[in-house]
Amino acid sequence: MEKKKQYTIAVLPGDGIGPEIVAEAVKVIELVARKTGVTIDVEYGRIGGIAIDTDGTPLPEQTLEITKRADAVLLGAVGGPKWDQNPGHLRPEAGLLGIRKALGLFANLRPATMHESLVDASSLKPEAVAGVDLIVVRELTGGIYFGEKKRYTAADGGEVAEDLLIYHEAEIERILRVSFELARKRSKRLVSVDKANVLESSRLWRKVAERVGADYPDVELSHMLVDSCAMQLVRAPKQFDVIVTENMFGDILSDQAAMLTGSIGMLASASLAEGSFGLYEPVHGSAPDIAGKGIANPLATILSVGMMLRLSLGLDEAADAVEKAVWSVLDAGHRTGDIAADKSQALGTVEMGKLVLAELEKWETA
Ligand code: NAD
Repeated sequence: MEKKKQYTIAVLPGDGIGPEIVAEAVKVIELVARKTGVTIDVEYGRIGGIAIDTDGTPLPEQTLEITKRADAVLLGAVGGPKWDQNPGHLRPEAGLLGIRKALGLFANLRPATMHESLVDASSLKPEAVAGVDLIVVRELTGGIYFGEKKRYTAADGGEVAEDLLIYHEAEIERILRVSFELARKRSKRLVSVDKANVLESSRLWRKVAERVGADYPDVELSHMLVDSCAMQLVRAPKQFDVIVTENMFGDILSDQAAMLTGSIGMLASASLAEGSFGLYEPVHGSAPDIAGKGIANPLATILSVGMMLRLSLGLDEAADAVEKAVWSVLDAGHRTGDIAADKSQALGTVEMGKLVLAELEKWETA
């Protein structure tokens, strides 16, 4: 990726704990900028409930403009009980769906990395999950979620529903290419997940995967049926490195894979468009139950910044440094309430952020 010296990040804190965790992540961005000498400008925008209250819509035009002129987007979380009874188009989640569509975000990347010192947070046996380091790539804009939907009454009077599962070859190819590129940077193994024994769309998926795979002879491609993958993920998750799959299978498998690590406050994600543009956000929601208390775990958002530095800004060393800083803080035994065995020792959001910054400060740039 061509390295620039000046980047703009659109920051959309959103609702609930969003502003609290994003504030810590922005401090990390600022420190990376200072240490690397790269200029990273930050522009703030509103999305979700706060935008409904202020602008009358969950995704104001002004927010879209900010994101479209940025190199990447950092998002906190949206939603909360205040807006739960609103009609669909005035719900915070409509802002999320809208921004994904408007920015053409078609590849959702969710890493599941089991950090050694958090192994007890998983509901699986430590020996099964220790060392897990995988990433699920989910196709985000096609498949059954976006195909034509119908409801009608059959001749016998019974109600019938239809959801069309449709994929164009080009949609499959672009997500496969993202996955092969990713696998190339990791352990050079890619598992493509489908249901080719039953679904025609999966048979096309497999054919395209094979064709695209010919361009990546250094990456070992294998195919796995989705039901088998679901079992293998809990039986022997360490066998996986990069998994790629279609929208609905990916929705389910990425949640399953993420939960191998057991701690929602640690899970980062990226949603990528063509080129290097992407939106980065923690997997968790706005956690209204703890919002405003200063106790939310900022690490998922900080790790999302790590993904942004690597995938959209091409600052791989900075990304490594951010991840290393997070792991060092955990290794030293520091915990927020969601991952602490002893809750009385739990740190607050800002305290945890400060520890990561202190570790990152030690990073010696080349
Ligand atoms: P949630 O992820 O917000 O919270 C689930 C549980 O995990 C809560 O007990 C919460 O306190 C805890 N938790 C979540 N993040 C945490 C963190 N960083 N540190 C410590 N604890 C954390 O899910 P939910 O309660 O089902 O949803 C709350 C709201 O968030 C809803 O309005 C929902 O629609 C929305 N939501 C938004 C997104 C998003 O913005 N991408 C994703 C999921 C849910």
